[in-house]
Amino acid sequence: SEIVVWREFDRSKLYTADLESGLHYLLRVELAAHKALAGAELNTLKDFVTVAAKISGIFLTSHIKWVGCQGSRPELRGYTCSLWKLFHTLTVEAAAHPEALDDTGFEGDPQAVLQAIRRYVHTFFGCKECGEHFEEMARESMDSVKTPDQAVLWLWKKHNQVNNRLAGHLSEDPKFPKVPWPTPDLCPACHEEIKGLDSWNEGQVLLFLKGHYGSSNLVDTYSA
Ligand code: FAD
Repeated sequence: SEIVVWREFDRSKLYTADLESGLHYLLRVELAAHKALAGAELNTLKDFVTVAAKISGIFLTSHIKWVGCQGSRPELRGYTCSLWKLFHTLTVEAAAHPEALDDTGFEGDPQAVLQAIRRYVHTFFGCKECGEHFEEMARESMDSVKTPDQAVLWLWKKHNQVNNRLAGHLSEDPKFPKVPWPTPDLCPACHEEIKGLDSWNEGQVLLFLKGHYGSSNLVDTYSA
C-alpha cells in the first residue's frame, strides 16, 4: 500500500498548497466530469472563475498536495476542506479589495462572491447532498447580506451550521472534530459569556477571519 507521509502544519495558518490543490481539483477533476458546458452552466463557471481569478492571487498547480487539509485517512478531508478555505478566502479578499471586482460587472455588489459560490456549489459540487443543503441555507438568508463584511460573516455562520450538523457523522475525521470555529485557542476574543451562556463577539470574529484568510496568513511551505 501507499506510504503517506504526514506533513506537519500549524492550524493557525493557511497553506497555499491547499488552495492551489483545491483549485486544481475543482477545474481538472470536478469540472472535467462535465463533457460540454453551455448556457446557464457555462455562465456559472465563468462567474466563479472571474471572482476567483480577480481576488485570489493563487495559481494552478499540476498535482494535489494537502497540508492543512490532510485527513488522518485518505477518504477524509482533502478537497471539501480546501473548498471551504477557498470560499472563505474569496469573501475575505472581496472585503479587503472591493476594487478588484471593477470592470467585471460585479462591482458594488456585496453578494457577488457568495452568489458565485452558491451557483458553483449547486451546479458542480460533486457532493449533491452538500449542494442541496447549501442551496437551502442560501435561499433562506443570503438576501440579508448587504456589505462585503456581512458576506464574510454569513459564510462563517453557515459553515458552523454545517459543522454542527455533521458532528459525530461518519465523515468526521477524529483528528479534526467538528466544533464551533474559531476555537478559543485560535481566537480567545471571539468568545464571550453572556449571562452564563457562550456567545460570539462578531466584531472580533470578523477581525479574526480577515486575518486568518487574509494574504498575510498564507504560508508557501510545501507549495509547488
Ligand atoms: P471543514 O469543515 O472542511 O473546514 C475546513 C477548515 O476550515 C477547518 O479545518 C477550519 O480550519 C476552517 N473552519 C472550520 N469552521 C469554519 C467556519 N465556521 N468559518 C471559517 N472557517 C472554518 N459534508 C457532508 O457530509 N454533508 C453536507 O451536507 C456537506 N455540505 C457541505 C457544503 C459545502 C459548501 C462544502 C464546501 C462542504 C460540505 N460538506 C458536507 C463537507 C464538510 O463540510 C467538510 O468539508 C468535510 O467533512 C471535511 O471536514 P474538515 O474537518 O476538513 O473541516
